[in-house]
Amino acid sequence: MTDEQAVIFDIDNTLIDDDFAVKSACKTIYQIHSNSFDKNFDSFLNSWFAALHKYFPRYLNGSISFTEQRVKRISEVFKDSTSQLTGATANAIFEDYLKSYENNWKLYDESRQGLDRLQRKYKLGIISNGQKEQQIQKLETTHLKAYFSEIVISSDVGCRKPDPKIFICASTRLGIPSKNCFYIGDNIAVDIQGANSAGMTGIWLNRKGKSTTLNIEEIKCLTEVEYVIKKENLRTHL
Ligand SMILES: [Mg+2]
Repeated sequence: MTDEQAVIFDIDNTLIDDDFAVKSACKTIYQIHSNSFDKNFDSFLNSWFAALHKYFPRYLNGSISFTEQRVKRISEVFKDSTSQLTGATANAIFEDYLKSYENNWKLYDESRQGLDRLQRKYKLGIISNGQKEQQIQKLETTHLKAYFSEIVISSDVGCRKPDPKIFICASTRLGIPSKNCFYIGDNIAVDIQGANSAGMTGIWLNRKGKSTTLNIEEIKCLTEVEYVIKKENLRTHL
């Protein structure tokens, strides 16, 4: 009989379709402000994602606050617009964005089914880079929170993926050594390499069928997690 094992999840674009929520909220903002832009929705969306990927990591590494990254993102996206942008209007735009973003949090079709199956055999946990209140709110809104014995969010513990410290923190809180933990995420560098460097088995959730030359565990759908765990248990007990 194997020791107790844990399955730990990333949230965004792993359990919850965050890209869908971002795109939907961008549509809302674009519709309100399209008269101030000389660009189509696709280029607006591209500039939104570029600003998100530029400023959100600065919040995660502590160089700007959660509120500052919001204002900076709006300022960047709206820099070519004809609107006069003050701090107050940037905040107001972000509030509209946020309302729509929160209204569009949704699970992938198989998220609940995957968790229902796994919770019968494994302790479940979360490790997420983000702001604690917002990430917890996502799990509550989508009725996922009760599945998890431990929820570790970077803003709460002072380190972030791929730092092995945040993975070790989750393993300690769960009371399960990292060699008995599996971590599921959609980002190879942040999720999988981070988990592996902490002694866990990272499983890359590759929904879009991207290719990699790395020798890592890979699944296309959350219902395949258990198959990988069983395969790994057989391999390590040979
Ligand atoms: Mg993710």
